[in-house]
Amino acid sequence: MFEMPTFDSVEDERLERKQKLAAAYRLFAKFGFDEGVAGHITARDPEHHDRFWVNRVGQYFGQVRVSTLLCVDHTGRIVEGDGPLNAAAFAIHSQVHAARPDVVAAAHSHSKYGRAWSTLARLLDPLTQDACAFYGDHGLFDDYTGLVVDLEEGKRIAHALGGSKAAILRNHGLLTVGHSVDEAAWWFITMERSCEVQLMAEAAGTPVLIDHAQASTTARQVGSHFGGWASFQPLYDRIVTEQPDLLD
Ligand SMILES: [Zn+2]
Repeated sequence: MFEMPTFDSVEDERLERKQKLAAAYRLFAKFGFDEGVAGHITARDPEHHDRFWVNRVGQYFGQVRVSTLLCVDHTGRIVEGDGPLNAAAFAIHSQVHAARPDVVAAAHSHSKYGRAWSTLARLLDPLTQDACAFYGDHGLFDDYTGLVVDLEEGKRIAHALGGSKAAILRNHGLLTVGHSVDEAAWWFITMERSCEVQLMAEAAGTPVLIDHAQASTTARQVGSHFGGWASFQPLYDRIVTEQPDLLD
């Protein structure tokens, strides 16, 4: 059946989150979302809710495996795995996870179209069915103060995110969250593509917007937690088939 999994034990749930997390990194690499050592995807631990799983800084996204992930506590201490930890990953993600107890996963990278769009300091418009996932459901962090290494800046980003599924960080890039790793990763992928589409459409002419009533209805249809999870499943199957060592 095509439905979100349930688990008999936290060990099973943890393993599944780590598998999805490693797969999300591989997909980000495949789609060219890596930029040096920038970017991070995190998954909250299912047992210790103040801990999250993240990549080791300096490791190429395309080489992340389940066994190379780090588990970090709310103070930034690595409780499992071999570091080092990315300071920006901790500054941003620890504050997002703390501010949003509902959120299981968060994704951020310096993907090209998201970065270009972020310089315009505008929210995305409902130009397409896919972009409607973000209609009334993303925020703008309308500030830029250099590399995010202090927790106060992470708090301000979490505030700009509010209760929504995504934020545009001005002059920086995109940030998405979800109730599953699958969902956070999918929102990132489709938001990046929506930025690309709006940039292309506005470069070519004056796009017609979907009206408020239709955009709101479509947002409920494509923008649900299940919708985000479901859209990730074909990509997960694809990357595990292509790169099964991610599960090691
Ligand atoms: Zn960044």
